[in-house]
Amino acid sequence: MSPPPLDLFARGRLAELSAARRRHLLERAAEPPAELVAGVAKIIEAVAERGDEAIRELARRFDGADLEAIEVPRSEWRRALAAIPAPVTDALRASRAAITAFHREQLPVALEIEPAPGLRLGRRPEPLARVGAYAPGGRAAYPSSVLMCVVPAKLAGVAEVIVCSPPQPGGLPAEVVLAACELAGADRLFAVGGAAAVAALAYGTDSVPRAEKVVGPGNAYVTEAKRQLAGRIASDCLAGPSELLVIAGPGADPLLVAREMVAQAEHDPAAVALALLTDPDLEEPVAASLAALTAEQPRRQTIRRALADRGGLLVCDGLDDALAFAADFAPEHLLLLVAEPREALSRVRSAGAVFLGPASSVVFGDYMSGTNHVLPTGGQARRQSGLSVTDFVRFSSYQELSDAAADRLAEATACLAEAEGLPAHAAAARAQLRRQAEAAPAPARAGAGDLQQRAETNPSARAQPLRKRPEYAELRLYEPGRRGCEIDLSDNTNLFGQAPAAARTLAEMGAAAMSRYPSVYAAELKRAAAAYFGVAADCIATGCGSDDLIDSTIRAFCAPGDRVAYPEPTFSMIEPFARMNAAVPVGVRLADRFELDADALVAAGGRISYVCRPNNPTGTLFAREAVEGLAAAAAGLVLIDEAYGDFCDEPLAAWAPQTDRVVVLRTMSKAFGLAGLRVGLAIGPPDLIAEIEKSRGPYKVGVAAEAAAGAALREDAAWVAATAAEAVTVRERLRGELEALGLRSWPSAANFVLVAAPGGDAAGGARDLLAAGVGVRPFPGLAQAGDCLRVTVGPWPLMERFLAAVGELVPS
Ligand code: PMP
Repeated sequence: MSPPPLDLFARGRLAELSAARRRHLLERAAEPPAELVAGVAKIIEAVAERGDEAIRELARRFDGADLEAIEVPRSEWRRALAAIPAPVTDALRASRAAITAFHREQLPVALEIEPAPGLRLGRRPEPLARVGAYAPGGRAAYPSSVLMCVVPAKLAGVAEVIVCSPPQPGGLPAEVVLAACELAGADRLFAVGGAAAVAALAYGTDSVPRAEKVVGPGNAYVTEAKRQLAGRIASDCLAGPSELLVIAGPGADPLLVAREMVAQAEHDPAAVALALLTDPDLEEPVAASLAALTAEQPRRQTIRRALADRGGLLVCDGLDDALAFAADFAPEHLLLLVAEPREALSRVRSAGAVFLGPASSVVFGDYMSGTNHVLPTGGQARRQSGLSVTDFVRFSSYQELSDAAADRLAEATACLAEAEGLPAHAAAARAQLRRQAEAAPAPARAGAGDLQQRAETNPSARAQPLRKRPEYAELRLYEPGRRGCEIDLSDNTNLFGQAPAAARTLAEMGAAAMSRYPSVYAAELKRAAAAYFGVAADCIATGCGSDDLIDSTIRAFCAPGDRVAYPEPTFSMIEPFARMNAAVPVGVRLADRFELDADALVAAGGRISYVCRPNNPTGTLFAREAVEGLAAAAAGLVLIDEAYGDFCDEPLAAWAPQTDRVVVLRTMSKAFGLAGLRVGLAIGPPDLIAEIEKSRGPYKVGVAAEAAAGAALREDAAWVAATAAEAVTVRERLRGELEALGLRSWPSAANFVLVAAPGGDAAGGARDLLAAGVGVRPFPGLAQAGDCLRVTVGPWPLMERFLAAVGELVPS
């Protein structure tokens, strides 16, 4: 039996739509009913006057809940997260990663310009201090909305993100909301719903702190409360029923059009699902599919009501006609099922979110692709945007004028002030002229060519103090804290000696070899390294230590403001090298047991993801699969620092050139025992290596360094392997002895050991060891490990000296 025909609000040709029907479709933002306005006003007044007491009373009345505490402790969020089904948790995590990836790109940056000499104008972003995210409860408890609101707010740097959600009869918000708070990284959660939640955030109560802004979808009460409280608390756009406008052209699949419309209509009887068809032949098949699909939906009553109220299939006179109507309609979601969706996109005006082509179902935007699903409805898309990181940021402008710039602006400023009848303003501007006249003799009007004379006759007209890069203000000179000592176990160099062929080459080299420049890009050294690692020579770049190659790689691939992501703790120089290049360092905590969390690193969205393997200072050899996963999923370059690769079994240097985005760094400073030469190597696909070489610049490896490092790579492989094996043996023996002293150490795949500081005091421990003649590197407050010392492995007598000294520090 065929399904009954559907009642659609609008059918036929768009051009023939009556004016009244057109208005009903276009003017969707209804005035709130008087009783809603009055009811919400009462709730706001109650919460403003009686705070928590009113919240409890309203919870009893509207939610049937007796609230013990209004704030929900984090232990409840964690319990809820453990209780929800694993596939849901996995999907929420994936959604969080996608939202993070898209929204991270929206982080606002500071700007400063100097449009005229001595006139500096800037704008600084500043995150809001505290925001509230409203999460509906009851039937419509959407964990996805919690992620969509909380994740961008935290990325923006909001210090406290508070979620409010109505309690269920047991007193707690819905289980999925609790779990989503934990996953999203919310700071606090309160069991308060509806208009009371917005009022509590606007006024603050004993339990709920006052917030600057409230975001998130809610029912009519929530929206009306946002409207009434607009003078007290900022909000996102006022949410109305969900909307979809489809534009379908020749060749579009009628069933797909119908499916998207039905999915939208099932939200709410007031939801809007409308299709504009630029091919009249689509009308009948889409109508038939709509009827058939609706009949089999569990929520068919809701769908039928929505389609009858504002659903429709309208035939247009071509794409221009459809796009013109869409611009007036300003839909929340616009789905383009046309031959050239990207071309159409360039002509779209006023849509909340646009979906291009048949695979881009609107539901992906609702949950998983990563764009925000909190979008303007009811035609607000004409003037407002969907939720984004910028919703959680405000900006301050600033200006700094030199005397000369103030001089130039004073007269025109005074003129406008007088024209506006503000004489004190005019006087303030002219006072600048007077101030300068008093401070200096009359300025000589300097023409081009006599700048010298101008500077002499009027020192105040000299250039302002030399401007320095703002990114450098916080940078400090590198200070490893190394002091001369008898036994230096602080720098992970090879304490078993140095590569013999290198030593011989240096001894035999005369000073005459230094009179000319070295090879521009160390061609001979590249050939030696290529043979050593079993790759082609154009897969290698050299540098002044691997530090130099970290720097060159960031410079080559990161524009100012791009992120360099890395696990923490790791090699301490990655952060300053990112800053030196005006990139943004983003540290991501290592997972349990110092393992690499590749998903979290990918989600950090680095233009470069840096991984040190084995990791300094933890010694961890991250699982190869995790690194491969990173290389497969990262959008940017993956930089693997194998400074300690000679000590582990499965280095990745030879793999890098087979990938499209992995570069491995090696150094001659560690296992080869040649730190003083300053030679580092980058190994990767030739096109990436070429970029690094461009940014590295010429003549970075000196004549002596190239010759000695080349000799070591050609002749000393067996020596390196033998001393590395010795280091491994000593390392394990050392760990055994440390354990016997009751000092925890971590498994290491390098020539050093990370050990818990005696007495839990890294700085004190390092100081006391230095006093005993032994230098080690302190690492205070490491995540997962606390205060630690890093100890380089060397010949056993050195280890005995260290063990004796550290033994003295262990409380007996
Ligand atoms: N990477 C790591 C992990 C390191 O530990 C070091 C030095 N401590 C370097 C790079 C820099 O080494 P170099 O510049 O001497 O090659």
